[in-house]
Amino acid sequence: MRHSLLAFCFSVLFTPVFAQTTDLPTLTHFDPSLVDKSLSPCDDFYKYTCSKWIGAHPIAQDMPITSVILPLFLYNQTILREAMEKAAADKQAAGSERQVGDFWLSCMDQAGRNAHGRDWLAPHLKVVDSLVSKKDLPRVVAWQHTNFPAVWEGDNNSTTAPMFGFGSEPDFADASHIVAAFDQGGMALPGIDYYLGTSDRFKDLRAQYIKHIQRMLELAGEPSEKAAADAAIVMDIETAFAKASMNNVDRRDPDKVYNKRTLEQIKAAVPDFDWDDYLARMHAPAAQLYIVSTPGFLDALEQQIKTRSAEDWRSYLRWWTVHRAAPFLGDDFVQENFAFFGTALTGTPQMLPQWRRCVTSADNLLGEALGQAYVNIAFPPASKAKANELVKQIRAALAEEIRRADWMDDATKKQALMKQDATLQKIGYPDRWRDYSSVKIVPDNYLANMNAANAFEAHRQIDKIGTTLDRTEWVMTPATIDAYEDPQTNTINFPAGILQLPIFDGTRDDASNLGAMGAVIGHETIHGFDDQGRKFDEKGNLRDWWTGDDEKRYDQKDKCIVDQYSQEIPEYGVTQKGELTAGEDTADNGGLHLAMMALENIYKARGKSLDTPEEDGLTARQRFFLSYGFVWCTAERPEAARQQVITNPHSLPMFRVNRPVSNMPEFQQAFSCPANAPMVHHPACRVW
Ligand SMILES: [Zn+2]
Repeated sequence: MRHSLLAFCFSVLFTPVFAQTTDLPTLTHFDPSLVDKSLSPCDDFYKYTCSKWIGAHPIAQDMPITSVILPLFLYNQTILREAMEKAAADKQAAGSERQVGDFWLSCMDQAGRNAHGRDWLAPHLKVVDSLVSKKDLPRVVAWQHTNFPAVWEGDNNSTTAPMFGFGSEPDFADASHIVAAFDQGGMALPGIDYYLGTSDRFKDLRAQYIKHIQRMLELAGEPSEKAAADAAIVMDIETAFAKASMNNVDRRDPDKVYNKRTLEQIKAAVPDFDWDDYLARMHAPAAQLYIVSTPGFLDALEQQIKTRSAEDWRSYLRWWTVHRAAPFLGDDFVQENFAFFGTALTGTPQMLPQWRRCVTSADNLLGEALGQAYVNIAFPPASKAKANELVKQIRAALAEEIRRADWMDDATKKQALMKQDATLQKIGYPDRWRDYSSVKIVPDNYLANMNAANAFEAHRQIDKIGTTLDRTEWVMTPATIDAYEDPQTNTINFPAGILQLPIFDGTRDDASNLGAMGAVIGHETIHGFDDQGRKFDEKGNLRDWWTGDDEKRYDQKDKCIVDQYSQEIPEYGVTQKGELTAGEDTADNGGLHLAMMALENIYKARGKSLDTPEEDGLTARQRFFLSYGFVWCTAERPEAARQQVITNPHSLPMFRVNRPVSNMPEFQQAFSCPANAPMVHHPACRVW
């Protein structure tokens, strides 16, 4: 249910070669010389702002994209690297410093991984082989779910863990109360279209996927023929799961995924799986309520368990064990994993250097231990203060927007303002750091370190069942270049990692900061009021607080955006579903509008005009839009772009720039665009 800002997850694409430099890269911000003056901003603003930059920065061999954000990614990773190297070298280091130091050593030890990876994997495969009857299934699945990622964490498409997802989440009806939740899962491809799509491209990817499963099983010691037969079984099971899964458009709708069940009902739906045994092994406290995101998925689960042999399940779980362990083993596993999930799926020829994969892995598994070092170096108190101020300015703009909206009645406005007022803004990093002291980290077994950190997090998530919601907890680490809104905690969250150049600089002018970071803040602020976020109240409860015809009017306004973004994207051969991206698109449009309002308020208070050229020859209004556009300058490999359009609710960067500006009269004004220019959309869509 969380809404994040970014479309790209850098972390799935990793793997080896050694790094040379620890110098921090230079971070730049927008400057007017980057603009391609031979083009008109009114024809294609994205091209006008970005084509020169993109032309000068081809996609690197080890990246699915090129983006102005990538130097910041490298910058953040370099800081984390130096912290881990320092901890590793310090014989006196203790506590979490010792842990990140040892984690670093275990990950960077390429020779050790190559020599011992198979030995590390062997005990896990032995657990799978101990499945001799289906009665053993709960025990082996619980082992998998405890030791490998990430049974508690569903994404836009499913939970990527074997068989199903299980964790905790706030009750939709009473967010203060944490309940148990089951999710569709058991599929390793990025979305159900990859299993069910009928185009040649999907068919080809499926053929490659089956080959990949076979090769992974061979690496784990299976003879070729057996591995090929197992791969076919895996594909059959995963396809059956895909057929029973909810699509990612419906999955956005909280009413569709809020299906209340008791444990007895789950047992009745899947009688061939011993749920008591599974839950006991997961150390799950008894729950009064289990939320089942996709009831039909349970039927498919039962069908598969009932009709498949113990041998089939050994094949399926052996694949998942090797698949999940692969990035933590020797280079043969790492490379084969990347060949499919990096190269075939995203078109990226080469893995990132080992050190960068180690940083990502540490950030994923021990993020709040590393985060303290990051904040100390990269996020001074002045940055936090300035960011807090910016968020306040944007939220004041939303309150103003709500008050003056002519399409909401007073009762709805009152509720909306209450919700806005109750939103908790969190900046940079948690007030209280997570305690990892119970996690055993060793310098010489990378897989065991992942298993230990994963078990810690799985138990931490499951232990929450039956407890009270903690709004102060973060789900992103401090060094993350992203931000999120969570409707059930009613929080907006901005990690220190994104409060950096080229997005934010406490010392820069307001137009630059508001166009770039202000739009990000506005985006998250609007999520609480997007097509799904608006269904939650000030306490984070799913409750209809809309009065009269206001809901109908909202839907009409939002339909304009859905239509505008429902489009063929011929260069990638895919169709964008406006219903999938509606929330993010609404947040982009409203967010940019709020940021512009905040800038107008600042200039008004100073008695200055936004339309007078300033030192750099640009008006503040122009610099605002250019700073916004610049942050999104990105070129993608076609495979990566396709995967994004199919599985991800964020529009491609060119649309994130051109669509919102074309809905804004302020943009037309800034660049004197004629009414019939391509960058002036008719009608101008506007919700917030
Ligand atoms: Zn978002």
